Amino acid sequence: MKKLLFSGLVCSLLFLSAPVQAQQKINPTIEKKVDALLKQMTLEEKVGQMAQVSIESLGSTINQAFTFSDKMKDAVVNYKIGSILNTPGLQTASDWNRIISEIHETAQLTKRKIPVLYGLDDIHGVNFVAGATLFPQQIGQAASWNRQLVFNAGVITAYEARAAGVPWTFSPVLDLGTNPVWPRIWEGYGEDPFLISELGVQFVKAVQEPLGNKEKLIVSLKHYMAYSDPKSGKDRTDAWIPEHYLREYHLPPFVAAINANARNVMVNSALINGIPTHINKHILTDILKNELGFTGFIVTDWQDIENVYRRDKMTKDVKEAIGLAINAGIDMSMIPYDYKAFCTDLIALVKEGKVSPVRIDDAVRRILRVKYEIGLFETPVTYLKDYPKFGSVEFEQAAYNMAAESITLLKNTNNVLPLRANAKVLVTGPNANSMRRLNGGWTYSWQGERTDEYATKYNTILEALQKKLGAANVIYEQGVTYKTPGQYFEDTALNIEAAVQAAANVDYVLLCVGENSYTETPGNTNDLNLSVNQLALAHALIKTGKPVVLILNEGRPRIINSIEPGAAAIVDVYLPGNFGADALVDILTGTVNPSGKLPITYPRYTNDLVGYIHKPSEGSGNPQGGHSDPQYPFGFGLSYTSFAYSNLSINKNSFEPNETATITVNVTNTGNKPGKEAVQLYITDLIATLTPDVKRLRGFEKIELKAGESQTVTFHIPLKQLAFVGTDLKKHLEAGEFNIQVGNLQQKFSVNKTLVF
Ligand code: BGC
Repeated sequence: MKKLLFSGLVCSLLFLSAPVQAQQKINPTIEKKVDALLKQMTLEEKVGQMAQVSIESLGSTINQAFTFSDKMKDAVVNYKIGSILNTPGLQTASDWNRIISEIHETAQLTKRKIPVLYGLDDIHGVNFVAGATLFPQQIGQAASWNRQLVFNAGVITAYEARAAGVPWTFSPVLDLGTNPVWPRIWEGYGEDPFLISELGVQFVKAVQEPLGNKEKLIVSLKHYMAYSDPKSGKDRTDAWIPEHYLREYHLPPFVAAINANARNVMVNSALINGIPTHINKHILTDILKNELGFTGFIVTDWQDIENVYRRDKMTKDVKEAIGLAINAGIDMSMIPYDYKAFCTDLIALVKEGKVSPVRIDDAVRRILRVKYEIGLFETPVTYLKDYPKFGSVEFEQAAYNMAAESITLLKNTNNVLPLRANAKVLVTGPNANSMRRLNGGWTYSWQGERTDEYATKYNTILEALQKKLGAANVIYEQGVTYKTPGQYFEDTALNIEAAVQAAANVDYVLLCVGENSYTETPGNTNDLNLSVNQLALAHALIKTGKPVVLILNEGRPRIINSIEPGAAAIVDVYLPGNFGADALVDILTGTVNPSGKLPITYPRYTNDLVGYIHKPSEGSGNPQGGHSDPQYPFGFGLSYTSFAYSNLSINKNSFEPNETATITVNVTNTGNKPGKEAVQLYITDLIATLTPDVKRLRGFEKIELKAGESQTVTFHIPLKQLAFVGTDLKKHLEAGEFNIQVGNLQQKFSVNKTLVF
């Protein structure tokens, strides 16, 4: 069972909804089919469509083999449940085929034969299907700054999910990684709304388009919205964010993905300004459905209607919470266990006049629409045999490519890297010899604790290095180890002295530190510092005088300021997946030139967690105030070659607000190796009526240059994109000067009129 089971009961509210303005496309043929079906359906059938139940409660797993109990028939036939989720442990693709077919055959026993929609967390590839291709986690994907690689990962994820027969993925995560304490930072594309939007759109298109194709799925945009920035930094706690900041920072990635036709949205499990998002009608209905014209359906997160009652103490029972949530705009409840109570309560609420039949019809229409759109009625099950590329070498290569472009070189004193040929290396640290650490959470199981058992065919850092340098040149002494599974951070010193002794006989020390795998609330931490034991190991090894190459293998930036000065080189691998060690070793040995750039700010101090998007008062320019001083800034990453920027130019000096600026810059590879560079365009509004952000990313391109080669990079920036959201919730593009920054170059231009829209 994934989480604790709660159950509960009874009450109300009236649904007042504005008409949906469809900005997303709707297919009239499908609408006719939905209308016809909806007309025939009873209230019980409709409520069943709105219920999603977790598979573990419908059967049992013995030796990895899952069998349904009578409960599945009860749920699907008697309660007409419309959706099932989650995994009964790691399953093969053929087992998934069997599970999904059995559900489908059971749905055929119902009067309407509406297919059941199965949803799964495909977080970094199809991570609950044995033998599937696992990519770096989203934070690493973002560090590649490479749209095409994210697109490729999406195409492969969709293909392999369909091989297993599962047509709906609970990804991508579009939460803003602004709070490094938050345990889900690694599940997202970093801290910048523009970077997240651009990569999120690639993923949505890759996974969904063309909708209805047998290699495509529907996505779920998570977790709408502002889930990632709670005041406490702990998972599922309250965020305090005024609406103009919600709209400025947290909403844009969702807008971009909805414009790309995302068909499902999952709701923020926590609260914003004291209101659980699951009952926030303004956020769910006014903004998402009415303003953005979202025509897909909204699913709750895990047990989150119950949470309104049990956790948030806002209703006298679960039934009342159900009423609030459905009236706020929830279309499907991830219940996840007590489907009987949910269905009974919701039916009663409609009969009591507390939830209107119109609201129910709207919810069910949305769900059926999507079921038709993805072709579920014609093809309720897809089979492995039709997906010959599942787990193929071609797909593995894509995962390797992503890892190779995500790994970020943060420090390289005197070009200590690449390692000298025939080097002797001590490999040490708790992250040196584990596939679990390389993959992180959501890997083969929720917390990733069984990865070392399942991923034996892939290389750990130690194994990859042994293969590349020869076992005789690699000494392993772990130094520090994590405690038993289930304890996510606690580690213990094994034998630091042995590691120190071993260092005497080598040319380099490869110190692999970071975090153990964790997912969601178990990853909460009270201390962002790297652990005491790992710091002690690092200090002891630095003292040996041998060049220490520090490998950071972590889901969020752990503070390293006391060991950073002593490390000769530092490489952040994030959570690079099954091919992460191979890619890392190719970088360490110089076969691959690193090109990853931080998609987050790497803080230097636990109490200085201001991200790169901040106000002048919070920045280094204010001696009386913030004076933020990160360890490494957002967008930072080194290469084995060097790039020079020149000729930054803009097509005009002064623009009308409706115009698009064309900005160009020349980039030259001035070193002696081919390399890739993520060219980043930042723009600052110099003076504004709402204190402006010191700078904002407005464009990026990943390019590849041979030694000596130059390229002109062009950015087209519609000036309206530079508007800020005012306290009146409107967008303001104010007349005045703006500053462009690319590399070390700057240039000014102005907007000649104010536009409010
Ligand atoms: C997580 C979601 C996930 C869902 C279904 C929740 O606990 O917050 O991200 O999609 O479970 O497994």
